[in-house]
Amino acid sequence: MKRSVKLIAGNWKMNGQADGLAQARRLIEALVSEPTSSRVAVMPPATLVSRLAELASGSVVEVGGQDCRAEAAGAFTGDISAELLAEAGAALVILGHSERRQGHGETDADVSAKVEAALRAGLEPVICIGETLQEREAGRAIEVVRSQISGSLPMSLNGRAFAVAYEPVWAIGTGLTPTLEQIAEVHAAVRAALVEQLGEGGQAPLILYGGSVKPSNAAEILAVEEVGGALVGGASLKADDFLAIIRAA
Ligand code: PEP
Repeated sequence: MKRSVKLIAGNWKMNGQADGLAQARRLIEALVSEPTSSRVAVMPPATLVSRLAELASGSVVEVGGQDCRAEAAGAFTGDISAELLAEAGAALVILGHSERRQGHGETDADVSAKVEAALRAGLEPVICIGETLQEREAGRAIEVVRSQISGSLPMSLNGRAFAVAYEPVWAIGTGLTPTLEQIAEVHAAVRAALVEQLGEGGQAPLILYGGSVKPSNAAEILAVEEVGGALVGGASLKADDFLAIIRAA
């Protein structure tokens, strides 16, 4: 199956306070003057979603959230719902990022409930999976991502727009990346698991790679079979670096 349009998504995490909007403006202007054939998304902290959505309006840049709660509304101090993100102008939402799984104890079942919430609110979920270094060294990388797919992806995803991001935990923010062969092996296994779980509907979703993608390694990673784009953390904070990754797709 041909999936020609890649998705390059930038996860700002808890950054962007000082010059985030200026960087976003620079990114948007560059993509207006020299368009790209890829989809481009920026996931800023929740406080910047509406301002970024306003800035990006009419451009190719889509805006997303970094997490949401499963409930639509209620007494959940400090949390944000998929509906609130959508109302602020988000079109996508990252779910199950390893920093949420590890730092907030999120389980596959929690992620699955959040995916249902995203679909309910009309957001496109970008569902993160990936093994720890210990799991990789124990030869369990494929087993771990298969189990995360089975636990975090509800059947209601069938026929809906969503992406999976394979992010080895040990590659996030470390400068380390798997070999191209390792990326190809896991992406092939993720595709097979998606088809096992969702039938032919499992052929459609993009499988992004995430973990220390930068201008110097983006082209070779994005050329790997079944790599449908990238989820980029640190290198998405500077417009020039993020643009170089987008241009490498
Ligand atoms: C991420 O947090 O999703 C990520 C891939 O981070 P980095 O690119 O900084 O490794």
